Amino acid sequence: MEQRDPLDYDALVIGAGISGLYQLYRLRELGLRVRVLEAGSGVGGTWYWNRYPGARFDSESYSYGYSFSQELLDEWSWSEHFAPQPETLRYLNYVADKFDLRRDITFHSRVGAAHYREDSGQWDVTVEHGSRYRARFLITAIGPLSAPTLPRIEGVETFQGSSFHTARWPHEPVGFAGKRVAVIGTGATGVQTIQEVAKTVGHLTVFQRTPNWCAPLHNGPIDAETQRRIKAGYPEMFARCRETFACFLHTPDPRGTFEVAPQEREAFFEKLYAERGFGIWQGNFRDILTDRAANAAVSDFVARKIRQRVKDQAVAEKLIPKNHGFGTRRVPLETKYYEAYNQPNVRLVDITETPIERITPKGLKTSDAEYEFDIIIYATGFDAITGSFDRIDMRGLGGQKLKDKWANGPQTFLGVKVEGFPNMFMLMGPHTALGNIPRSIEYNVDWVTGLIRYMQEHKLSRADARPEAVAAWTDHVKALGEGLLSNEVNSWMTGINTNVEGKQTRIIARYSGSAPAYRARCDAVAANGYRELVLA
Ligand code: NAP
Repeated sequence: MEQRDPLDYDALVIGAGISGLYQLYRLRELGLRVRVLEAGSGVGGTWYWNRYPGARFDSESYSYGYSFSQELLDEWSWSEHFAPQPETLRYLNYVADKFDLRRDITFHSRVGAAHYREDSGQWDVTVEHGSRYRARFLITAIGPLSAPTLPRIEGVETFQGSSFHTARWPHEPVGFAGKRVAVIGTGATGVQTIQEVAKTVGHLTVFQRTPNWCAPLHNGPIDAETQRRIKAGYPEMFARCRETFACFLHTPDPRGTFEVAPQEREAFFEKLYAERGFGIWQGNFRDILTDRAANAAVSDFVARKIRQRVKDQAVAEKLIPKNHGFGTRRVPLETKYYEAYNQPNVRLVDITETPIERITPKGLKTSDAEYEFDIIIYATGFDAITGSFDRIDMRGLGGQKLKDKWANGPQTFLGVKVEGFPNMFMLMGPHTALGNIPRSIEYNVDWVTGLIRYMQEHKLSRADARPEAVAAWTDHVKALGEGLLSNEVNSWMTGINTNVEGKQTRIIARYSGSAPAYRARCDAVAANGYRELVLA
């Protein structure tokens, strides 16, 4: 019998989140010896780390779960239209148990380095505590929003109360009753945190740098009859998600904003504002994210809603974005977020007027006041898309560092392959279609699995991207981004993070065409025998 080094695998997968779990399941079907290396103590990725108060889906639960197993779809019942984080984490644990995935996952294993060895044609992967693994295939399932960043504010380490980044929330409950709490950051995470903390807090101060355009989530429990309909309707629902622009249940209305009469336009906006989920963003007139006047119309509508919901008009004005239009950044979905500012114990501080100068042992100091807090919550986001790659010392052929290769922005083929990094495949890497992420993940994983199967069948051991294919795909992704108002705005989607050295210039990091077009491209590559890859 062949003796194998115990740390020698056919494939290593970094990360046991939604993509890593599913990739493991698929690679096992190919008979490969797979090991998943996971930094956390459990499965779940995003849903393992982001335990902050109020964390929940803002895509409909049933559209967000895995679709690959009918049994799983039959067995699992979501309790709410937008499930809270603990339920999602339970779901992912249920999946891990159901498919017996845990036996191939090593927890507490944050990957520090991954180097390609040309002599053996293997990836040499080092975990931060020292263990080393080798494998022919390396699959990154590290997520686009998984490298949290604290603000670059002097004195962060000096605060003597409790402080947490939302993506590093403790596993024990944190109480807010009677406490003086600060939240820094008002992205989708900050909004969910603020509206939840406001329910029980002694006093809450929100430090806002840029307001975001938020819209109502309209969550609610799923009753038995609706549950039955959801389960019976899964095939149609997943078919719809395959057809829509970004794999959501919602997709742009074919009409232009000004092709309808003003009254009809207003009624349409009202209808979307009253509907569950991302309809107002993803199901709006087709031109709201490309035509400035159309964007101004919907922005004006949402601004009026904010003015209606917030009693103090000076506060309302601070909450209305002035430097970007509706939907040009990721729209946070909220439940009574704006009403939180009507509470006497909630205060909004606009730090563009009075910047934070430093965090102090007792709280923080802005240009005009000193504040004392028991708890500071940093909802300051992530070094997105490329950040989780930058945190691993990744080296390809000739010892070339991925970070150097991507110094001026990512260059990929289909968002899956990087030239000079043979047999490394990225799930939800830069230049892929993100959208409703689990839907995109299932496609991405199946595509990578298909390629590995093809290599097995054709006795091929190495796949690298051709430079011309990378150049063409990268140009294509850039061209798709032209004319999109979101690419004129600073956000994680354009690669901006003021807290990270070298991330102050906008890049095109996401594929912004439609998901069906993305899949058509990938399918064509597979159907043509992967000619864009050098297979050896
Ligand atoms: P984010 O959107 O990047 O927001 C970070 C916030 O922190 C922004 O308000 C930012 O202000 C502020 N900030 C950063 N550094 C700061 C500093 N030094 N001083 C003051 N303020 C600072 O991050 P996020 O809210 O964590 O959300 C990231 C993404 O995760 C979302 O867009 C979404 O895609 C995903 N997410 C999904 C869900 C869900 O599905 N339910 C929930 C939460 C998040 P500026 O805007 O001025 O930079």
